[in-house]
Amino acid sequence: MSEQLNADVVVIGAGVSGLTAARRLDQAGHSVVVLEASDRVGGRTVNLDVAPGVITEGGGQWVGPGQDHVLALLDELGLDTFKTFVDGKSIYLRKGKKKLYEGTVPPLAPMVLADYAQLQLRLERMAKTVPLDAPWKAPEARHWDSITFGRWIDANSFTKEVRLLFKLGFTVTDGEDLHSTSLLVQLARIAGCGGIDHLVNVTGGAQESRVVGGTQLISLRMADALSEKVVLDSPVSRITQDDTGVLVSSARVDVRADQVIVAMAPSDANRIRFAPDLPTRRAMLQRRWCNGTESKLFAVYDRPFWRDKGFNGQAITDLRVANYVVDNSPPDGSVGILLTFLGTAGSGYGLHWSDEILDNPDVRRAMFLADLETLFGPEAAHPRAYLEKDWTHEPWISGCVSSRPPGVITQYTDADRRPVGRIHWAGTETATVNQGYIDGAVSAGQRAAEDAGRALSQNTPASPAIPVTTAQH
Ligand SMILES: Cc1cc2nc3c(=O)[nH]c(=O)nc-3n(C[C@H](O)[C@H](O)[C@H](O)COP(=O)(O)OP(=O)(O)OC[C@H]3O[C@@H](n4cnc5c(N)ncnc54)[C@H](O)[C@@H]3O)c2cc1C
Repeated sequence: MSEQLNADVVVIGAGVSGLTAARRLDQAGHSVVVLEASDRVGGRTVNLDVAPGVITEGGGQWVGPGQDHVLALLDELGLDTFKTFVDGKSIYLRKGKKKLYEGTVPPLAPMVLADYAQLQLRLERMAKTVPLDAPWKAPEARHWDSITFGRWIDANSFTKEVRLLFKLGFTVTDGEDLHSTSLLVQLARIAGCGGIDHLVNVTGGAQESRVVGGTQLISLRMADALSEKVVLDSPVSRITQDDTGVLVSSARVDVRADQVIVAMAPSDANRIRFAPDLPTRRAMLQRRWCNGTESKLFAVYDRPFWRDKGFNGQAITDLRVANYVVDNSPPDGSVGILLTFLGTAGSGYGLHWSDEILDNPDVRRAMFLADLETLFGPEAAHPRAYLEKDWTHEPWISGCVSSRPPGVITQYTDADRRPVGRIHWAGTETATVNQGYIDGAVSAGQRAAEDAGRALSQNTPASPAIPVTTAQH
């Protein structure tokens, strides 16, 4: 029989969002229990051991200007940041031709640059008309939510090279194929993170800095402070609510509480059973939400040897595996780490990850190292270690950065964060600014904690009680 606990609020999910919510409630003097399905905290942020005292980030890793919520939390937790390494030349390699460049803009032909600029200008103009808290109210919302982002790029670009660059930029930052994601969703994302440059750039953009010691420290520090209030290995299977409170049933403990915060992607919340049933829009949203996934591949060297050759480790390519490469070495450069992302979004614009690459680790490793050798020379073929983090086969996390196909955002509108009785929704997917980022996870956790705290003080359900249905679970 499961242990029984009582709390004012039970938080489900010990990622950044759930732990931020629990921390704020705890600080406000409310009793709280956090239930986490897996055997660790951090969710989509995880530190991987590389060498004694050296880690690299298997999941979310970068923070940047404008991400004020996570930057403030880092400060509060006593964590420092350091800049992504950019000193030296970047590589742009397409159709076998290698070009070197400095700064943020690859050396593109004037026609290609003009094409990129006109797409960027139009997308950013369109994005300005999208209200961040209600994208479905944009004047063109219906139309933009009826087509994919990729379809719009196809119809409005003039050069293949620009299509490739958009594919690379957005699949790396979203883990999502452009032809699977709604144009309206991408416009909301562009608006919510401060423009396309901010989205794709390192310097001045969302990839500018990393956390010393890795981003999982954010969750580890919050969990340490919450101590035994965090219960691991305890997937929640059912949430039952009525006029008197909520009962959350999980593998190791059942918690009776006044309010509950579900802090995970809507697609992950879909594994939980709810009694009474969720409102139709929320239930459908959970079914139709989709998360793009990608793997991170790391080659580890005794030192960042490419820096001696004047390279900063960054490359944009049309090679088989290493399409975007970045120097992911620790701040002191005590070992050298090159990172690439391998998407599951496998088609279009000349980029295609074959089943062999996706499913055969030996082939994947060999091709990745061969690509790095093409870029940085023979030393790259002999790393002292090789690591991967695969997000496609995670049992409790269905992806990296969430997206929605056409038709979802205009049909289900604010069902992502509208409370259902005593249930409040957190997770980065419910943020209006920097949605999909760690910053969004922090702000969403804080917002859900405020909502739950308000509902506690009123001692009433946070939204009109949902009628009890006759459905059997
Ligand atoms: C490869 C990759 C690269 C990324 N890069 C960046 C980046 O550079 N910068 C950036 O800002 N963001 C990045 N992100 C996104 C960022 O990591 C996420 O936005 C953020 O960590 C999400 O936090 P969250 O708390 O909202 O959700 P999650 O981290 O998904 O937390 C949800 C938690 O709920 C748990 N859970 C699920 N089901 C149950 C259940 N039934 N019962 C109990 N617990 C359950 C899960 O195990 C998980 O721990 C990246 C993500 C990935 C995967």
